[in-house]
Parts: sequence; structure tokens; C-alpha cells
Amino acid sequence: MGAGRFAPSPSGPLHVGNLRTAVLAWLFARSTDRRFLIRVEDLDRVRAGAEAIQLTELAALGLTSDSPVIRQSEQADRYDRALEQMQSQDLVYECFCTRRDIAEAAAAPHADPGLYPGTCRNLSDGERARRRAERPPALRLRAAVETWAVDDVLAGRFRAPVDDVVLRRNDGVISYNLAVVVDDAAQGIDQVVRGDDLLASAPRQAYLASLLGLPIPTYAHVPLALAPQGRRLAKRDGAVTLEDLADLGHPPSTVLAVILRSLGLPGSSLAAALEAFEPTLVPRDPWIVDPEKLLSTILDAAPQQSA
Ligand code: GLU
Repeated sequence: MGAGRFAPSPSGPLHVGNLRTAVLAWLFARSTDRRFLIRVEDLDRVRAGAEAIQLTELAALGLTSDSPVIRQSEQADRYDRALEQMQSQDLVYECFCTRRDIAEAAAAPHADPGLYPGTCRNLSDGERARRRAERPPALRLRAAVETWAVDDVLAGRFRAPVDDVVLRRNDGVISYNLAVVVDDAAQGIDQVVRGDDLLASAPRQAYLASLLGLPIPTYAHVPLALAPQGRRLAKRDGAVTLEDLADLGHPPSTVLAVILRSLGLPGSSLAAALEAFEPTLVPRDPWIVDPEKLLSTILDAAPQQSA
């Protein structure tokens, strides 16, 4: 049996947009007879206590992991093995560029902004030794393609540039792209449902998986929640977390009903939503959330449907 997952970074409480993505990941997994796993992506952006808060919030909506929750900070061995595998195939090189070096190179005429221009790809042994004395290197992928394509349930066939992505940062931390690919395969995850801000990363992750000889998961990148001005929703926008909403008298069950309604799904329980869930009917536009009146607006707007 395959598995889907929700993989939050423990940077703070989850807001209704994050929770909606988690609900979608659960619905996609369950509607295709997959297990549902939760993974804590704590290589970066960690805030003390946030992991426990997030897991409690997910559980309050009925979202729990079918296998024990794993943390990326505890998977160093498998990341090292993946790196060694790629090193043995000459797919890795040391990069000494600072952020500033990369920004300057990207500003050069004909450079492709946002993509690493390959500055350190072909350094001589002597040059590498000299640079190592100055700063520890990051490790980058020696990509042999310029683009890669994935199939996404919502976006269709999607092709994007692939550059020499960082595999290990110069502070020794494994990159998000490598960790996700290695963990998804190690956990038997064959369905990746997440926010569509990560759609552009999917081709490079699928390419990395193919280089490592790992299966490519099915992807579904779902619309994010946005604040009325079109910005990404953030906790600072107002009452958008379960805790804030509970303080205003709205229990998690009401928040779940609101999330389900935003997805066009009936009822107020995950089980009822699952009955009606159809991947192709997932809204394609962002969910615009006015934090000031999140619940009142939505519940008032459709009182006849309230569960
Ligand atoms: N940890 C990432 C985030 O919270 C999600 C990564 C993924 O789903 O691949 O943004």
C-alpha cells in the first residue's frame, strides 16, 4: 500500500491555509487507499515547541499519522548514503560561492536569474584546495539536464528548469530538496500533496529521485490560502490559527467545517468529506481568507449549508 503525507516545517503554529493543505493531503491519500503519514521537516526554520503544537493542531482536526512521526533531524544516515551514492557517480561538486557571488553572477547579462550559473562546476584541484582554506564548501548537484517535467494531478504536465541544486549547505545541513526526495522514498510515500508554491521545485526533486534510482511520486500541488491583498496568509495577519480561533469561541470542529466548505465539500467531518471528495474538483484558485472575519464571513455566506 502506498502513502501520502503532510510534512510541515516546525516554524510556528499552523494557520488555516496550512491546515487546509493537510486536510487535502489526507483526502487525496484516503480516497486512493493510501496510508497518511506526517513528517516533521526540522532541518531548518525550527522554533522551540512548534512541533508539538502542530501535531496537536493536526490531531484536533482528526489528522494523525498512520506510522510514528519521523523528524528529518534524525535521518542523517540516509542523507549521507544518498550523497555518497551521488558522489560515487561523480554527480556532486564543491561550491564556494557566497550569496553575494551568486547574486552578482545572476545579474550578469544573459544569466538566468534564480538559477545557479555553475561558477564552481569546473574548478581545478589546486583552486579547490585554495578555496577550502577560506570557507567550507556547499555540495551541489552536477545536473546533466536543463529542464525536467513532472505530471501533476491539478497542473497537468509541468516542466521547469533544473540547475545545480545545493545538496548540502556549507554549514553541513542537508538541503530541503535532497531530504524530501530521500525521505519520501524511504517512507514509501508515492503521493506528494502540498502547496502550489512548491510546484516549481517538483521537477528538480523528481530529477534527483531519478538520479538516485528512486520511484517518482504522484504530485498534486494545491492552491494556497492568501490574505485579501493577495499576499500569502501568515499568522501575523490575525485570527488564523486554531488557538486564535478557539480564543474567539470557535472550536476546531467549526474550523474544519469552514475548511471543508472552502473546498466545496459538504458536511463537517472528514468522513463525510471523503465520501464526496473528487481530486479533479479541488478549487484551482487560491483561498482568499480575510482573517478579521474568517469564520463569520464564511458561515454567514452559506447559512443554508451549515452543518
Ligand atoms: N516542509 C515544507 C513546508 O512546510 C513542505 C515540504 C514538502 O511538502 O515537500 O513548506
